[in-house]
Amino acid sequence: MKIIVIGANAAGLSAASAIRKNHKDWQIDVYDKGQYISYGSCGIPYYVSDEVKSLDSLITLTKETMENKRKIPIHLFHEVKSVDFEKREVLITDIKSGNDLKEKYDYLVITTGGKSNTTKISSDADLDHPRVFKVHTLGHAKRLKDFLTATKINSAVIIGGGYIGLEMLEAYEAQGVKNLTLIGPRLNFRSESQDFIQKELEKHGVKIILKKRVKTIKSVSNEKLKVILADGEEIEADLVQLSIGVVPATDLFKNTKLGMLDNGAIIIDKFCRTNIENVYSAGDCASVYHKLLKKNVYSPLAPAANRLGRLSGSHIAGKKVDPFLGIVGTAIFKVFNLYCAQTGLPEIFAKEMGYEVQTSLITINELAHYYPGAKKMSVLLRFDPNTHLLLGAEITAPSSLGAKKIDVLATALSMKMTIDDIQQLDLAYAPPFAPTWDPILVAVNVARKKCK
Ligand SMILES: Cc1cc2nc3c(=O)[nH]c(=O)nc-3n(C[C@H](O)[C@H](O)[C@H](O)COP(=O)(O)OP(=O)(O)OC[C@H]3O[C@@H](n4cnc5c(N)ncnc54)[C@H](O)[C@@H]3O)c2cc1C
Repeated sequence: MKIIVIGANAAGLSAASAIRKNHKDWQIDVYDKGQYISYGSCGIPYYVSDEVKSLDSLITLTKETMENKRKIPIHLFHEVKSVDFEKREVLITDIKSGNDLKEKYDYLVITTGGKSNTTKISSDADLDHPRVFKVHTLGHAKRLKDFLTATKINSAVIIGGGYIGLEMLEAYEAQGVKNLTLIGPRLNFRSESQDFIQKELEKHGVKIILKKRVKTIKSVSNEKLKVILADGEEIEADLVQLSIGVVPATDLFKNTKLGMLDNGAIIIDKFCRTNIENVYSAGDCASVYHKLLKKNVYSPLAPAANRLGRLSGSHIAGKKVDPFLGIVGTAIFKVFNLYCAQTGLPEIFAKEMGYEVQTSLITINELAHYYPGAKKMSVLLRFDPNTHLLLGAEITAPSSLGAKKIDVLATALSMKMTIDDIQQLDLAYAPPFAPTWDPILVAVNVARKKCK
């Protein structure tokens, strides 16, 4: 058997390694257009802030380990340009030499990941200005950190209020950037949980511009840019970071018969099979089944990329594997000293699913009130007052202890628990970990009072 994997990061290497584990003699080749493999993009904000000192520590597996121990050749700087699904043949360009080569496959695994979305900014924007940065790849991260280390800057505008934009603010502050502006439609959450993030940003002096559209970015000089909003407001800065979302890197499959969602995410089934025989996909280039929405959605996050990458490889290898039953929309992120998490459905989607939506929001001590360092956390629950079914939750907390309680609620959502079921849970207590009445139990007690 001859396997070709496109993309050498979380999903691709998980797939290749799972195949190798089961078949020592199959030929597996991984092609990646970039320089780095097997790295944790999730660590980029902490590398830029210098909490993580070296770029190498973000890398899990090296090319040498993959090739010498796992016997999987990794072809770096090799970009797959097109795939002929009829002939089962891949056209690859060796970026360094410029030469093209064609390779046949028995199975193809597409794990090309995502890319920064720039389509929301006008096409005349000066995106090639030396002080416009993205933070999607390790290459981007290195370029940004090298720049911040070498150049003293006073102001930065971060475009995008998603978790990456929010996490990066801390990195700029740590690098001594005094004037930070964040522009976005909202602060990640779609509810009043945003207020806690807003307060945290204000504590750190971040100027927040919400619900306004960026029209374009223009060069003022080699050292200055201006961000122009749709209403004409102009903000000058020494640096602009673009983090306005991720889109699947699947342009090369446009106009092919590969099934994709409207945004280009490759549609896969519960074993990562696409609509084309012997072609699998996983990770940020693919869709993922949402258990609550009961459909494939685009949710580019690391746990599913790793898990589905491995699942695709095991399935190709012929191993008996459990199908992937879906995500419930769980995510976690840190904004300066505020730890934020969410799971389940935002109100708008819950209503689309036909639920009546009720919410309850509490603020409560994260630890026993007398324990040193006890501070407030918030728990927002979204539920159906008729069926008492939990629909979603959001947490903000002063430490990871509080924010990670989201996993209890993610489990409850996965198991279709009602808030009455959650109220019966036996949750751990000791003063350094929680109050006697765990914040989750207090939150469901408050929610129950709003139920019919
Ligand atoms: C700054 C940042 C922070 C993040 N933080 C978190 C977090 O805290 N938690 C979380 O769950 N997720 C986080 N993520 C998302 C997470 O990193 C991704 O979900 C994960 O990396 C996806 O892995 P992947 O293998 O699908 O794709 P990628 O990591 O994008 O890898 C795809 C690979 O394919 C290669 N490629 C693309 N096209 C071609 C082609 N035509 N030919 C050859 N090679 C090609 C690329 O060079 C790339 O190496 C973060 C992402 C970023 C950018």
